[in-house]
Order: sequence, then C-alpha cells, then structure tokens
Amino acid sequence: METKQDCLFCKIAHGEIPSKKVYEDEYVYAFDDINPLMPVHTLIVPKVHYDNIGDEVPNDLMGHIFNTVPKIAHLKGIEESGYRVMVNTGDDACQSVHHLHVHVLGGGKMTEDSPAVTHNA
Ligand code: AMP
Ligand code: ZN
Repeated sequence: METKQDCLFCKIAHGEIPSKKVYEDEYVYAFDDINPLMPVHTLIVPKVHYDNIGDEVPNDLMGHIFNTVPKIAHLKGIEESGYRVMVNTGDDACQSVHHLHVHVLGGGKMTEDSPAVTHNA
C-alpha cells in the first residue's frame, strides 16, 4: 500500500497514530476531526496517499470516497437533518494536511458561510 513518509493522515489511516474511528473498509478510513467545527465533524481519507483532489485520484477510488459520505451521515445520525461536505485544496483553501480528506460536517444548523472554509490550526 502506498503511503507517504511523515504524512499524518497516512499514519492515522494505518493505525500508527490514534484517532477516533468512525468507519473503515479496504479503501478508506474515517475518523473524528480533532478540532471539530460542528457537533459532527468527521474526516474521510483514502488509505493510499494522494496529496489532494487534483492528484490524479482513480475514478473508482474517488467514487468510493464520496459514496462513503452518506454512510458516515447514517452512522452519525445526520442523514435526515443534513450535512455539509468540504474538500479544502491548496493554499487559498487553507488545506493544512496534504493527504486528500473529505470533511463531513453536521449536527447543527449552518449558515451559507459557516462553518467557514477557513481553518487556522
Ligand atoms: P484541512 O484544513 O482541510 O487540511 O483539514 C485538516 C483537518 O485535520 C483539520 O480540520 C484538523 O482539525 C484535522 N486534524 C489535524 N490533526 C488531526 C488529528 N491528529 N486527528 C484528527 N484530526 C486532525
Ligand atoms: Zn498520506
């Protein structure tokens, strides 16, 4: 399996750094964000390393990642109330961890711009 040395999310996806697991299968690992912006804030990462959504991610894996989103929503009990899906990419979007990850946010009413797409950790 392709991992990148010193990548935080590679280590989390492979159990080398602890995390609060929400879901796992052969291709993806999902865990709660350490600094939640909403009552539900889960990250989905592929087990293979890709820097971001533009890193030539194979179609079947991309599909699998996004098909995992409603599974997370179901596990977290927010499929009816709704949720927001966010993929920060590059500097302007303040991507801070350079391993592709999908944020699933919910559990409360969001405004059009909140939680903001800014993250300053
Ligand atoms: P982004 O800013 O889109 O790159 O998102 C990175 C996310 O990873 C942020 O929401 C962080 O709070 C989160 N994060 C950073 N380190 C950890 C960690 N060890 N466990 C869980 N989430 C983390
Ligand atoms: Zn990685």
